[in-house]
Amino acid sequence: HEAKKERNAVHFYHDEMESGYLRKIRIEQRLRSALSGGHLFMVYQPQVSHDGRMLGVEALIRWKDDELGFVPPDEFIGVAETTGLMPAIGEFVVNTAMREMTLLQQHLRQQFDIAINISVKQFLQAGFVAGIREHINHYRIEPKYLTLEITESVFIEDLQMVLPALNELHDMGVRISLDDFGTGFSSLSVLRLLPIDELKIDKSFIDDIRTDQTAHKMAQSVIAIGKNYNMSVLAEGVETAEQKALLIEDGCDRFQGYHFAKPMPAAELAVFIRESPAIYL
Ligand code: C2E
Ligand code: MG
Ligand code: MG
Ligand code: MG
Repeated sequence: HEAKKERNAVHFYHDEMESGYLRKIRIEQRLRSALSGGHLFMVYQPQVSHDGRMLGVEALIRWKDDELGFVPPDEFIGVAETTGLMPAIGEFVVNTAMREMTLLQQHLRQQFDIAINISVKQFLQAGFVAGIREHINHYRIEPKYLTLEITESVFIEDLQMVLPALNELHDMGVRISLDDFGTGFSSLSVLRLLPIDELKIDKSFIDDIRTDQTAHKMAQSVIAIGKNYNMSVLAEGVETAEQKALLIEDGCDRFQGYHFAKPMPAAELAVFIRESPAIYL
C-alpha cells in the first residue's frame, strides 16, 4: 500500500515537472510572437505622497495571449531572461513607458516620476546605461524624473560590474530604487557603497503589518534605514486605509497599492489624474 502511494507520488511529481517544463516552452514560443505581434503593453500604477499627491507612476508590463490568456510578468519575465528574449522585452518596456508617459505629461502639462522595472539580466547587458541615456535624450526627459527599480538580486552578481553602471546612472541624475527590499540578500554594507535613492518595502511585510508584530517591526526598520541613509521609502501593496495610517505614523514617505489605484493603461491614467487630483487623502 505504502509502495503504491509512493509510486503515485513519483508519477505526480514527474507530471508536475513536465507540465511546468512544457508551459515554459509554450510561454517562450508564444512570447516570441507576442513581441512582434503587439500583444505586450504597459500599465501604470500611481505612487502617492503621505499627503495624497500623485508623485509618479510605476510602469508594469502586461501580456494577453490569444491562447494562454493573461500571463503574469512574474512568470514570463523569468522565461524571457533564460531564453534570450529579455533584451527585446526590456527595450520595449523602456521605450513604451517613456513614450507614453512623456506624451501624457505634455498633454496634462504636468510632470511626474516614471519608475521602470529593470531585470538583472537587462541591467547587466552591455550598453544598458548608454541605451537609457539615448532614450532620455530622445524623449527629453529630465533624468530626475526617471526612476529605475532594481532588485537586490543584482548584488549577487559581480559588484564590480554593477557599481560602475549604478554610479553612471546616478551621476546622470537618474533615481535608483531597490524593489522588494527585505526579501533578498543585500547587506547594510552594500547599501552604504551604492547610490540608492529609494527603498521599496516589499508587499509581504505590508500585508501583515497590522496583524504581525514582526512584519510591522520589519517595515519600521526599513523606514529607519531609509531615514539614516537619506533615502526615500516607499511602501508597495498598500490595500487598506489602516495600513496607510500605520505607515504614515511610522514615517513612510511614499505609497503604492490598490488602496490608491490599480495599474491602468495610459489613456485611463489620463482620465484618472484629471478627475482625481487629490482623492488619495
Ligand atoms: P514589482 O515590481 O514588485 O511590482 C509590484 C506588483 O504588485 C505588481 O504586480 C503590481 O500590479 C502589484 N500590486 C501593486 N499594488 C498592489 C496591491 O495593493 N495588491 C496586490 N495584490 N498587488 C499589488 P505585477 O504587475 O503582476 O508584476 C509582478 C512583478 O513582475 C513585478 O513586481 C516586477 O518584478 C515584474 N515586472 C512587472 N513589469 C515588469 C517590467 O516591465 N519589467 C521587468 N523587468 N519586470 C517587471
Ligand atoms: Mg517594481
Ligand atoms: Mg516591488
Ligand atoms: Mg514586490
